[in-house]
This record gives sequence, C-alpha cells and structure tokens, in this order.
Amino acid sequence: MKNELFPRPTPGFSFTRKDALEQLNAFIPLAGRYAGKRNQVVPGHPHVSRLSPAIRHRLILESECAAAPLRRYAASTVEKFTQEVYWRRYWKNWLSLRPQLWTAYLDQLAALQKNPQSEGVRARAALCEAGEGPVAIMNHFARELMETGYLHNHARMWFAGWWIHIERLPWQLGADFFLRHLLDGDPASNTLSWRWVAGLQTPGKTYLPRRRNLEKYLPPEILEIHHAGLYLLENPYPLILPPEQVSVITRPSLPSSPSPKECRLGIWIHEEDLFIEQSPLAALRPSAILATGDTATWTRFRYPEPKTSWLRAALTDAAGRAGSAFGIEARLHVDSPITGALLRWASDHQLQQIAAMRPEIGPLDDQIEELQTTLTKSGIDLLLLDRPEDLALRPLATAGFFGFWEKIQKSIKAGV
Ligand SMILES: Cc1cc2nc3c(=O)[nH]c(=O)nc-3n(C[C@H](O)[C@H](O)[C@H](O)COP(=O)(O)OP(=O)(O)OC[C@H]3O[C@@H](n4cnc5c(N)ncnc54)[C@H](O)[C@@H]3O)c2cc1C
Repeated sequence: MKNELFPRPTPGFSFTRKDALEQLNAFIPLAGRYAGKRNQVVPGHPHVSRLSPAIRHRLILESECAAAPLRRYAASTVEKFTQEVYWRRYWKNWLSLRPQLWTAYLDQLAALQKNPQSEGVRARAALCEAGEGPVAIMNHFARELMETGYLHNHARMWFAGWWIHIERLPWQLGADFFLRHLLDGDPASNTLSWRWVAGLQTPGKTYLPRRRNLEKYLPPEILEIHHAGLYLLENPYPLILPPEQVSVITRPSLPSSPSPKECRLGIWIHEEDLFIEQSPLAALRPSAILATGDTATWTRFRYPEPKTSWLRAALTDAAGRAGSAFGIEARLHVDSPITGALLRWASDHQLQQIAAMRPEIGPLDDQIEELQTTLTKSGIDLLLLDRPEDLALRPLATAGFFGFWEKIQKSIKAGV
C-alpha cells in the first residue's frame, strides 16, 4: 500500500482500529459510573468515551462497544451506556425509513445558503460560528468544536438550543456547522438531534438551554471565564415550528445489488465502514482492494483540515488492515474523486465487479445511483452489501427510541 503523508489528526480521537479498541478498553472501568457522571461537561471529557468518530466510521462496531463493559459489569449497571451506543443505530434506522427528511434538509440548507433574503441570517450565523456571538460560553463551545472536532453531548444540546430558541437562527445552518466540523459528523445523529432540539422530532417538545442547567454541569472555573451573556439563558422562550407530517417510506433509491459471481472482483473501502475484514465482504475473494475518500462530500460540506486529516488517517488504517486480511496490497486514493478512481482502478485490474458496504442515508449514498450507472456503462457491476445485524434492526425504528430499545435490549445484552 502506498503510504501517504498527511498532517497528524487531532489528538484524543482514535483514528486506527487498534487505538479505538485500546480507548474502549480504557473506558471500561469508567462505564460503571457513566450514568451518574455523563452529563458533566468538564475539560478533557473524562466521563464519556469520546469514541464517536471511531464508531461513526465503523473503526469499531456498536456491538463491540456494547459487549466490552458487559465483561466487567452487570447489564443493569451499564445500561445507560449501552443505550447511548444504540441511539446512533436508532437514528440511522429511523432516517433510513424516512429518507425524505435528509433530502428536505439539504434543500432547505441550500435555499438558506443562496437566498439573498437570508443574507442577514447568514451573517449572524457566521458570527456565532466564529465564536463572536453574544453569549461567551457558546463562543467557547464554537471554538472548542472548531479546534478539536468534538463537543460533549450536553454542550451540543445547549449550543443547538441557544442557536434555535434564543438566537432564532435556522436549525439547518447550525446542523451544517456541526456536520462540517464534528469528527463524528453523522447525517442521521446530527440532523435528527437538531430536529429534536427544534421540537420537530417529538412534536411539542423542544430543548431549551437554561442558565441553571449550565451552572449545574459546568465547572465554576469555566463559568467564571465565560460568564458574559449568561443572563440571556435565564428565561428562554421556545420557538414553535409548524408541525410536520412524516411518514415511513421505503428507500426509493435503494439500488438492487447483483449477487457475487465468478469474475474478477475488487473491494472498495469507503469512509462509511472502515472494518470490512469483519463484514459480509470478508467472504469474497477480491483481486484488488481500493480505499477512497469521499472528496466530493468533503468539498461540498467544506470539511476543515482536521476532519479530512482524521478521515485520511482512518482510511489508511482500514486499507492496511484489509490488505493484510486478504493478503493483497490495498490501493489508497484518498484525494481523487470516487468515480474516476474506481474506473481507473477497475481498468488496471480488469475488474468486472466492485463490492462495497452499502452506505447509510447521507451524502455518499446520494452519489450511489449515478456511480452505479457510470460503472454499468463500463461493464462493471456494483455489489452493495449490508451487515445482517443492521438489516435486523432497521425495520424496528418505526416510533420512539425506547420502543426500539425494548425490542433489541435482550439480544444486545446477551451479546447476540
Ligand atoms: C445537536 C446535536 C448534534 C449531534 N450530532 C452528532 C453527530 O453528528 N454525530 C454523532 O455521532 N453524534 C451526534 N450527536 C450525539 C452525541 O452528542 C454524540 O454521539 C456524543 O456526544 C459523542 O461523544 P462520546 O463518544 O464521548 O459519547 P458517549 O457518551 O461516550 O457515548 C458512547 C457512544 O454512544 C453514541 N451516542 C451517545 N450519545 C448519543 C446521542 N445522543 N445520539 C446518538 N448517539 C449517541 C455515540 O456513538 C457515542 O460514541 C449530536 C447530539 C446533539 C444534541
């Protein structure tokens, strides 16, 4: 594998599977007091795992994160942590049953970014993003997000609540700010959490940041430095958005996948799943492996350098592991547009079929139909596979999280 040199990603967030597993192991002793301490927002975030970038891009799997604390604690002791881990899967499944919400978000965002009438709103949002808004603690969070690519969950809730209900800025611009900078930026968790804070997910229920709540969960030394404007969070009054009718629909653009066949086949690794050696792809016999970065998305959503560095490093790790597992050298093309890179690689290796993990709803999935058409024109099949455990959980996210949890908890706790 060609080893490319990238700027080193932000410290503290594992970008290799080995480090992520070590980080998970180091977190196990803390998992027992997670329920009591997880809401505290303290420097270094010692009470939460900070594993989200690794889980989001599947350097490690949710099932591994759920199983690890169960080796030390009773399931009831670590239930809160296990539930949080499965919130991500719930959100992904929920969105995959209602993909129209992702498209609607993109359309609304594009309108806000282009519309001349939204110029004032864009200017105010830009100030808040730059950490130059009227509430000092929110400026602190904006800077932390840009500098580290991470924010504690409680800080995300406060920031989003302040943005929507106090600054009265459109939630879509805030979601875009988060998705751009968060190393764990996830189309489902992010879009749906912003919608939840805005009161769109659970009709009539908004999330309001309250001064008392910040004072309870932030250490006094942070509040002392960033106290200016805190009074603005004294008696927040919710913005009420018109309710929406959201129906469950089957994914319209789900491309039908051909079956693996006896032909020259290549495996394509992308940033939606970086653990292919333990996936349905592991059963295939590839002639070649290629890992690509989704540079079209990096450009479209203006990913900053720390985020692209993390993605490059994680893709490099995934390609290296896959190469060792299959006993062939994996090629790495992190900076070329996907379609061109796949076509060149397929031609070099005379591939007739390319197999990959199916992306979840999000910007990569949005490109699949066109990619499939282009590959078909060159005589190449695109085979998209799903993890059976994902398929099993997908139809269960029809209503709220706790209904979903009720249906899955027995098998999760049993490590099935
Ligand atoms: C407005 C807003 C936007 C968000 N955007 C994202 C996003 O783009 N990507 C993202 O991964 N999470 C997002 N979250 C959810 C949550 O804040 C992060 O997953 C969590 O803070 C990650 O930190 P951690 O790994 O230390 O979490 P821990 O507390 O250690 O939790 C362990 C794991 O459980 C999952 N998890 C925890 N809380 C949540 C949650 N509320 N929703 C979904 N999964 C959760 C994550 O995979 C996390 O790594 C958002 C939350 C809000 C309120």
